[in-house]
Amino acid sequence: MSEQIKKVLVIDDNEVIRKLTSTQLSKKNYLVKTAENGQAGIDIARCFQPHVILLDVMMPELDGYAVCEKLKASDETMDIPIIMLTGKTESVDKIKGLEKGASDYVTKPFDHGELLARVATHVKIKIMWDDLQEKNRMLHELSRRDELTGLHNYRHFMERISYEFNRSNRYNLPLCCVILDLDYFKKVNDSYGHQAGDFVLREVAKITRESIREIDLAARYGGEEFALILPHTKLENALCLCERIRMNVESRTFNFNNYKIKNTVSLGVVSRRDNNPESYSEMIKFADEALYSAKENGRNRVSKYNNKKTADCFYPVDSVPPTHPD
Ligand code: GH3
Ligand code: MG
Ligand code: MG
Repeated sequence: MSEQIKKVLVIDDNEVIRKLTSTQLSKKNYLVKTAENGQAGIDIARCFQPHVILLDVMMPELDGYAVCEKLKASDETMDIPIIMLTGKTESVDKIKGLEKGASDYVTKPFDHGELLARVATHVKIKIMWDDLQEKNRMLHELSRRDELTGLHNYRHFMERISYEFNRSNRYNLPLCCVILDLDYFKKVNDSYGHQAGDFVLREVAKITRESIREIDLAARYGGEEFALILPHTKLENALCLCERIRMNVESRTFNFNNYKIKNTVSLGVVSRRDNNPESYSEMIKFADEALYSAKENGRNRVSKYNNKKTADCFYPVDSVPPTHPD
C-alpha cells in the first residue's frame, strides 16, 4: 500500500489556493494535478483517477455542488472521495455538500495540518476501497470459472443458456447448444494416470476455447463433458464449428511426460430454430440425446439432434476412436 502513488486533484478557481495546496501536498509525496474550473476538473478526474478531490464550492459557471453532482453521477468518478473547500461556515452549506455526495469538508481559511490529515484519511479509505473492489471482481470471476480448465463452470453455463434461450425465442434469433464428451476418457486415466487425464482435459478445453467466437460461451458441464452456447449461430455453422473441434482433437498428440496420448471427442448439437425445444432445459436434453447418438454410432463424431428421435450423424463417416494400451 505504501509504494502506491497517491494522487490528489485540486479544483479551485483561486490560483493562490491551488498553488498553496499543491505545494503542501507535493511535499508529502502526493502526485497533484490542479484545475481552475469545474468542467476542466471533471475532465481531469476522469483520466487522472485521483484518490481524493479537493473541490472548491464557490466557482463561476459550474460551482462545487454542481461539479460534485456530476462526478457522483458518472461511473468513472463516482467512487472518488471529495473534500469540499468551503469559505462558508454556515452548517447548511456544509450539509448541502455532504448531501451531494462529498465525503468531507474543510473550511477556508484552512489549517494545512488539518487539510493534510483529512486528505491522508480519505486516500487511505479510497485505496482500501479499490483493493476491496478488485478482490470482489476476482471473486466474481472465480465463482464463474472451472478451476481445472479455466472454462466457465456449470452454474454460469445454466445462467447463460437460460438468458440466451429467452432472448433467442423472443427475437427469433438463431441459437445452438453443443455438448462435447471425451471418448473413452476413463482409459486415458487408467493407462497414463489421473494427471495425464487432467492435462488432456485442459488441452481439449483450450482447443475448444480457441475455436469459438468472443460471444460464444464454453463451459465445463461435467467431469469430461463440455458445453457450448452459440448465439446468433445457424445449425450448419454450429456443425462446422463442431467438426473443426473434433478434427483438431483427433489430429493432436497430447505429450505428457513421455507419453504420447491420442484422444477423440463426440459432440451433440441442437438448434433452437430447427429442433424447437420448449425450454432451455429441453434444449440441453436434446443436445445430450444427440451426443448419446454420436456415441452409439461409434464416437469421434458430430451428431445433430433429430426430432424423429434418430439423430443423424454427420461427420465423419468412418473414423475410429484411438485405442489405449490396457
Ligand atoms: P465414453 O466414450 O462413453 O464417454 O467413455 P468414457 O470413459 O469417457 O466415459 P465414462 O463416463 O465411463 O468415464 C469418464 C471418466 O472421466 C471417468 C472419470 O474418472 C474421468 N474424469 C472425470 N472428471 C475428471 C477430471 O477432472 N480429471 C480426470 N483426470 N478425469 C476425470
Ligand atoms: Mg472560489
Ligand atoms: Mg466420455
